[in-house]
Amino acid sequence: MSDGHWHSTPFDDDKLKEECGIFGVVGVAEAANFTALGLHALQHRGQEAGGIVVHHPEQGFNSVRRFGYVRDNFTDQDTMDMLPGSLAIGHVRYSTSGSKGATAIRDVQPFFGEFAMGGAAIAHNGNITNAEALRRELIERGSIFQSSSDSECIIHLMARSLQRNIPERMKDALRRVEGAFSVVAMTRTKLIGVRDPLGVRPLVLGRVADGWALASETCALDIIGAEFVREIEPGEMVVISEAEGVVSHRPFEAKRPRFCIFEHVYFSRPDSILGGRSVYSTREAIGRELAKEAPVDADLVCPVPDSGTPAAIGYGLESGIPYAMGIIRNQYMGRTFIEPTESIRNMGVRLKLNVNRALVRGKRIILVDDSVVRGTTSRKIKEMILDAGAKEVHFRIASPPTAWPCFYGVDTPQREKLLAATMSEEEMRAHLGVDSLRFISLDGLYRAVGEAQGRDPSAPQYCDACFSGEYPVEPMDQLQRGFRLKAAE
Ligand code: SF4
Repeated sequence: MSDGHWHSTPFDDDKLKEECGIFGVVGVAEAANFTALGLHALQHRGQEAGGIVVHHPEQGFNSVRRFGYVRDNFTDQDTMDMLPGSLAIGHVRYSTSGSKGATAIRDVQPFFGEFAMGGAAIAHNGNITNAEALRRELIERGSIFQSSSDSECIIHLMARSLQRNIPERMKDALRRVEGAFSVVAMTRTKLIGVRDPLGVRPLVLGRVADGWALASETCALDIIGAEFVREIEPGEMVVISEAEGVVSHRPFEAKRPRFCIFEHVYFSRPDSILGGRSVYSTREAIGRELAKEAPVDADLVCPVPDSGTPAAIGYGLESGIPYAMGIIRNQYMGRTFIEPTESIRNMGVRLKLNVNRALVRGKRIILVDDSVVRGTTSRKIKEMILDAGAKEVHFRIASPPTAWPCFYGVDTPQREKLLAATMSEEEMRAHLGVDSLRFISLDGLYRAVGEAQGRDPSAPQYCDACFSGEYPVEPMDQLQRGFRLKAAE
């Protein structure tokens, strides 16, 4: 027996985590297999658990919800045989910070409810900012909650609605909900997709053979050979059936959209299309802006793989400094290893990343990363690069300092744990022990996502609360727990 230390997925602990990916399909044979593939393409949005619900005219609703990767849970014939039908929805998730380690299978979506007019299942990406208040009210009025998830409120609100069909009940329910939500839902015959009035989280529509698909990102349409039709618009509900096709509704008061700008920086896959723009080219443009704003004399531009790669390429192109892979990622990192001796420094990071020693020795290196959250990984990477003989290390970060938590469906540490919440840029540089540290400005980021004039401070075009501290939806539950807005500091 070794008395070494356990390490489990250490590298990713220093990243913000998207909490969910959602997918739905109607009008195709073997809808569950399509859904499994779509969820596999969305696995980067949530790796803790996944679930699929289907409906079959004779066999009714069936569901499978499990912990772990889609590829491990939804590929064997026996499981997929339990999920017959031409209509399905699915969900992948991370746990929220509060429930980490204690998630029960009953918290895994999609959630199902049986109503007088038939059953319905829903899967939610985002976070309901008034969920605690709603839950208290619903419990007082007799609702019996099955899970600790904020998303379950939607089912209970639907149960209390007096409307005569499920899409109308969903409208009633979602009008009571505050915060960020992209939802896919299904009845016995219909696939439903909704985005909140600000459109904080993404949702797209695709055409697959004679059927239709909804997905968090276009990369999930590509994997099933679906054609991207359009984004579901902020504040829009689409009700899709084999008989009537796509019918659009506008259940909410119109608002100015505030899409999550961090989807462009990090969450979405680089091969997805967001707001008519390739995520990859947006990230390259971020790198170019960063090179203009924060130039430095150096020998090589290297990405922190994988998410820093397109921005590093952009930085290299703009600056004329050669781009190279100074850090190599091990794609096959196991989940846990036992550290054989105490002396292996930074083993957690080494499991996933290794320095290309021959390349970096004696060089001045610019390292490009997408974000700095706690800074723990950045420090370790810097040490590894210096150990390998680099002369200088300059960090360039493809997002502004992350100084505020996200309350709209992204797992963020508490404010005190965010490096940028407690330190100035120079203090962060000294803490990380690098020769220089620069972040892209908020205006620079807006320019890179296509806003030529930068951020409009009187009417920001995106949600950027984790950088600016300006929350487009008041985080009601958090305020009741003592969270202080910027204006109150
Ligand atoms: S707070 Fe940040 S991560 Fe959260 S929705 Fe807004 S921009 Fe996205």
